[in-house]
Amino acid sequence: MGARRRATWVSYLTLGAALVVVELALPDGLARDSLYTLVAGSAAVAIVVGVRMHRPRQRTAWYLMAAGIACWAVGDGLWALFAHVLLIEPFPSVADAAYLLGYPLLAAGMLQLSVSRRRHRDLAPLLDAFIVATGVGLVLYVVFIEPGWGESQGELLHQAVAVAYPLGDVILLTQLVHLGASVVIRTWSLRMLGAAFVLVLVADILFQAMAFAPELESQIAFIDPLWLVAYVLWGAAALHPSMARAMVVEGAHERAFTPGRLWFLATAIVLLPVTILVEAMLGLPLHSTAVSVAGIIMIALVLTRMIGLVRRMRDQARRLAQLADTDFLTGLDNRRHLGERLADRLDGRVQTAPGPTVLAVGIEGFAEINETLGHRVGDELLRSVAARLRDLAEQDVAVARLGGDVFGLLLPAGRPAGEVLVLAHDLRAHLVEPMTVDALTLTIEVAVGVVIADAEHDDADHMLHRADVALATARELPGRVAVHDAAMDEGVLLAPALMAELRAALEAGDLVVHFQPQVEIGTGRVFGAEALVRWQHPTHGLLPPMAFIPAAERTGLIRQLTMHVLDRSLAQCARWRGEGRPLSVSVNLSVRNLLDPHLVDDVRAALDRHGLDPSVLELELTETMAMVDPVRSGEVLGALDDLGVTLSIDDYGTGYGSLAYLQRLPVRRLKIDRSFVTGVLDDPASAAIVRSTIDLARQLGLSVVAEGVEDDATLLHLRDMDCFAAQGFGIGRPMPEAAVGRLIDDIDARLPGLLDVRPLIPTPVPGD
Ligand code: C2E
Ligand code: MG
Ligand code: MG
Repeated sequence: MGARRRATWVSYLTLGAALVVVELALPDGLARDSLYTLVAGSAAVAIVVGVRMHRPRQRTAWYLMAAGIACWAVGDGLWALFAHVLLIEPFPSVADAAYLLGYPLLAAGMLQLSVSRRRHRDLAPLLDAFIVATGVGLVLYVVFIEPGWGESQGELLHQAVAVAYPLGDVILLTQLVHLGASVVIRTWSLRMLGAAFVLVLVADILFQAMAFAPELESQIAFIDPLWLVAYVLWGAAALHPSMARAMVVEGAHERAFTPGRLWFLATAIVLLPVTILVEAMLGLPLHSTAVSVAGIIMIALVLTRMIGLVRRMRDQARRLAQLADTDFLTGLDNRRHLGERLADRLDGRVQTAPGPTVLAVGIEGFAEINETLGHRVGDELLRSVAARLRDLAEQDVAVARLGGDVFGLLLPAGRPAGEVLVLAHDLRAHLVEPMTVDALTLTIEVAVGVVIADAEHDDADHMLHRADVALATARELPGRVAVHDAAMDEGVLLAPALMAELRAALEAGDLVVHFQPQVEIGTGRVFGAEALVRWQHPTHGLLPPMAFIPAAERTGLIRQLTMHVLDRSLAQCARWRGEGRPLSVSVNLSVRNLLDPHLVDDVRAALDRHGLDPSVLELELTETMAMVDPVRSGEVLGALDDLGVTLSIDDYGTGYGSLAYLQRLPVRRLKIDRSFVTGVLDDPASAAIVRSTIDLARQLGLSVVAEGVEDDATLLHLRDMDCFAAQGFGIGRPMPEAAVGRLIDDIDARLPGLLDVRPLIPTPVPGD
């Protein structure tokens, strides 16, 4: 098919070229002019064939051009008939009528090709075409039209026809420039089409010039082939395989006002003064009126063009400003813009009222949702949350996306703290309602950090930072809502600059591990310790894990961090064993660790390095972590269990996991979250949860560790509930390596007595 089309095109071009040569060789006469007419007619036929073959979108355009060329072919035929058969040379004649009809048809065809199908039509190409046409038109007027009108005085039809030709050329030129300025995709078909028009215009102008310079008349033999070649090019353009694409007219709107185009337009404008200048220099009568009229038209066109340009620039500036303020994913304001609004409100605030308030709303586990369900679902989720926030927010509340999975609400000044808290809880309640995202029903957990501008020293940046801090705290609380207070600033969240230091700190060994003893309630003795990482920062002091673990998770440093903690913990464990203490050690894992295919090998290698049995190591994970990617994490957990490591669920009760679900994981231990343990004495609900968890765990063969035991009374209560083990400030705080040994000794000495444990081997009690 393609080959056949190619063959048609090539044959037409070859045959056309051959005919041009033959025509040139033939003497002036009927044969020569008949051949001429034949070539012209073939071009019209070739266009019809081309349209049938290539089925372009803008068929009308091509048919109009075919009709225009057919008119010219008829004109050529009539001319031959008059000149060689009837032997008359009438002017004007029917041949002229046919020729003149050809011009508007050809111009209409080009116009069709140039017109964009877009909704927003760009007038710039047309204006450019008119600017060029005015310049060239003026020259044609001065050189041909006006003298033509003047010379054949008296005979109106004669005058009109003489003038119509240069006018037709101006129209063709206008459309040619219009086409050139509109069409973005330049194909070979289009190039040939353009070349044909250029040839026609050149030939026309030379031909008209002949009327005024009789010495040129003998040169007609040189002009004739120009039209002939144009016919062949027209036919070839329509048959060329690229013709169907030649009409793709696109995005002229977006195109720049290129320097080339500017030069082109400037040249057209310069034609005005040049005309006067040339006339003055040659001592010819000056066409001042014509030049002035052309000048006025030109100024109007250029002005319109400039207004369009200015308007477009203004639109672009507005769009850019809007883009700079908008979060592209959700269409909400971005952090920068919310910061600006906040700064405005802080400036205009009356000092006494409660200041403006910022709520930072964070989605929990968003990274996991992204990783497991894909970014498309993640993006969709963010958009759904944005839509809900927008619906919930009152008129005077600005909603923004502060970044990642965090949204921000800016409340006007004058809202009492109590009211703000109610709002925060309402927001949470609405956002945790199940939402349909990409045909999935998702239930998310969100946390809300609240910060109310304080009277003395709040600037917008500081306030947004404090909102992040409050959010980080809220994420740790069972109620998931926190109002910022000064104590939180002590390292809950660090400025982004500090995050960059984390890698260096890891390498320099500035991350230290503290150990918190774990006590078996039945014996009152320490059986192990939990490793808790801290950052010994040179200027900020000892930073808690929450200040840098989230960043380490985001930046991927968490793998290195976990391995560092594991290594230090196993080293410590080996030392204890060397001192005759048969203790185990627990290390906390992050979500990312569970998705890391090297984790199992890394753990095995670390144990080997320290010559330890896997049974001395406990790895803690949170409920939600195991649910992130159940298949992948299931494999990793299975392999760790096979290795002989004890797996436990940390912060049990704060996630969404059910015991039945957890039972399917190779988990051996549950650590009940501190928030339930703290309330065991006073809050019946907490007590019930702890009690039922212990009972259920026993039935499932899991042991339970109570976290956050802050006093002896709680410990005793847990003993009565038959809890297996406990850890907490009331038993012993996390201590550096060097101090933990003494702490363990102290606990071992104190607790058996407190818990009323009868020692298996009676130990001498001091003072007994
Ligand atoms: P976690 O694993 O639940 O660790 C217990 C946290 O509760 C520790 O906080 C500990 O100091 C604190 N704690 C212990 N007993 C009490 C108590 O009686 N009262 C109160 N109020 N708090 C108590 P820390 O060290 O700030 O660690 C916070 C969390 O950071 C840990 O919670 C753990 O999830 C994470 N973390 C700590 N070290 C690491 C680590 O090496 N890797 C990873 N991935 N996470 C770590
Ligand atoms: Mg833990
Ligand atoms: Mg915990």
